[in-house]
Amino acid sequence: MANVEVRALRQQPGFACEECRKRKARCDRGRPKCSFCTATGSTCVIVDKRQQRGPKKGQVNQMRLQIGLLHSSSTVM
Ligand SMILES: [Zn+2]
Ligand SMILES: [Zn+2]
Repeated sequence: MANVEVRALRQQPGFACEECRKRKARCDRGRPKCSFCTATGSTCVIVDKRQQRGPKKGQVNQMRLQIGLLHSSSTVM
């Protein structure tokens, strides 16, 4: 079997907090504050512009289960 799953890395290179973005500084995304915000004493806010929509992992598993059941029941004949 050649079932290879390629997982994309979650870290995005250009993903900086608001303060670093405004000042065009390099954000190390430290927690709770990145080093730049710690140095400047500003609030570190990282805005995720991607909208999180769609079913959650658990729901997807449920859907897969149902699809699998449907599939198996339709191929029984
Ligand atoms: Zn930053
Ligand atoms: Zn920051």
